[in-house]
Amino acid sequence: MTNGNNRKILEILEYHYKDTTTALEYNNNFELLVATMLSVQTTDMQVNRITKGLFANYPTPQKMLSLTEAKLAEEIKGCGLYRNKAKNIIATVKILIKEHGGEVPANREALMSLPGVGRKTANVVLANAFGIPALGVDTHVFRVANRLGLVKAKTPYQVEEQLIKQLPREKWGEAHHWLIWHGRKVCRAQKPLCSDCALKDLCPSYVG
Ligand code: SF4
Repeated sequence: MTNGNNRKILEILEYHYKDTTTALEYNNNFELLVATMLSVQTTDMQVNRITKGLFANYPTPQKMLSLTEAKLAEEIKGCGLYRNKAKNIIATVKILIKEHGGEVPANREALMSLPGVGRKTANVVLANAFGIPALGVDTHVFRVANRLGLVKAKTPYQVEEQLIKQLPREKWGEAHHWLIWHGRKVCRAQKPLCSDCALKDLCPSYVG
């Protein structure tokens, strides 16, 4: 169960970021999966710049498989780790076609068996593509949840476990977005804007 302070923090986050969603741009579940894979160590804005042309030409696993790994690497060159990502995406596309009828699977185990798909990516896809309760922990969620004292965690999985115990299942996916947007706009990694923060009276990491 959540304590009173945490409950208030979560209510304020929900109030301020209620209708936020992912900044990644996509038109189908496959594009969401690829965009989320590309977003590791790359900003969502940069991913959107890259996927605009990529998804216009290769919006399905079948179409993307017409690219070689080298050609895909060329297309996504503005991303961090782009060679590795190209290798994983081509391998993932082959598995989607061979084992899932060209569709993105709607369960965590199948998603996490895809090359380059970790728990965070799987959770983001489950929540955003299928509305399945899941809370992805990226760098913003990890930092902000720890700073606010919502969790005391050393790993993303610990953050996820501790956060979901404090939220009803239907809010797991939304809470991911609240924490990300607070991390982007206010509780930045470098120089958080504590004096402008709506949570400053409740936050144990407030710096005046
Ligand atoms: S008070 Fe500062 S450290 Fe705490 S959540 Fe707000 S910006 Fe982050």
